Amino acid sequence: KRAGGNIHCFFADTMDPGALEAIELQRDLRRALETNTGLELHYQPKIDSRTGRISGVEALLRWHHPERGAVSPVVFVPVAERFGLIGALGQWVTDEACRQLRIWQDTGLRMHVAINLSVHQLRQTDLVERVQDSLARHDIAGGRVTFEVTESAAMEDPQASLRVFERLAQLGVSLSIDDFGTGYSSLSYLRRLPARQLKIDRSFVQDVASQEDAQAIVRAVIKLAHALGLKVVAEGVETVAQQDVLKRMGCDQLQGYLFAKPMPARHLQLWVMGDGV
Ligand code: C2E
Ligand code: CA
Ligand code: CA
Ligand code: CA
Repeated sequence: KRAGGNIHCFFADTMDPGALEAIELQRDLRRALETNTGLELHYQPKIDSRTGRISGVEALLRWHHPERGAVSPVVFVPVAERFGLIGALGQWVTDEACRQLRIWQDTGLRMHVAINLSVHQLRQTDLVERVQDSLARHDIAGGRVTFEVTESAAMEDPQASLRVFERLAQLGVSLSIDDFGTGYSSLSYLRRLPARQLKIDRSFVQDVASQEDAQAIVRAVIKLAHALGLKVVAEGVETVAQQDVLKRMGCDQLQGYLFAKPMPARHLQLWVMGDGV
């Protein structure tokens, strides 16, 4: 199948690479990190649902493999986790995002960036120091950065996660609970997390305009989040109908292909200056 023409379709999103593939991928990923080639961050706007203006971006990692072409993070992030590369990879992402924030700021664009954090990074003892280093190196205030952690990741070791989040909060860095609704958070834990934001998973957003049960869940989640003082972001908004329903329910921010796909940094800047705002 390797000989097949379309390399981009080689890994379906849900496909787990076989053991041999995974070993090859981790070797190539290690090389990509060492030589700093092939890795890139794309940025997807989050839109303030009331004003229609951009309120920040989410950084999404892209890897252009020398032979395979684009490999999805759904494939290579788990490989990095499995082979102990996620610490270095995550560090690269945070540093690159801070570097980009600095470039934008120097050209007059004050941006806020959300970075995805893997559960494995939460166990890294020097995570907070590394984040602090990146902020300092590029002279970026912690308040400009949010970490998105999936609900299930935060739940894996609640006590340890809580300690990390509290130390990040001391740097001014905020926390967002990603993919909300797909895990099993206890509400009392959610209350104790120093999170500012909750992201409703795309699977609910997808059906929010067409199915009553999804609508009921989303409405309840928004109410709950607001009662806890959290802002709510809906991810994966693709249609005007979804946008309308979510706006009516008081969802604070919207993100999805309806507004913009993830894009390279310079495109983002053009997008913000052009019809994006
Ligand atoms: P996620 O954090 O839930 O990110 C949202 C995913 O949905 C992204 O896929 C994004 O491109 C996609 N998306 C955004 N809007 C829409 C939409 O309207 N419709 C549809 N169908 N999709 C939309 P992507 O970039 O392939 O990333 C997939 C996952 O890989 C992310 O899910 C995240 O879990 C992980 N990931 C990406 N970058 C990083 C990273 O830097 N570090 C870590 N640890 N994980 C990352
Ligand atoms: Ca995310
Ligand atoms: Ca998400
Ligand atoms: Ca998701």
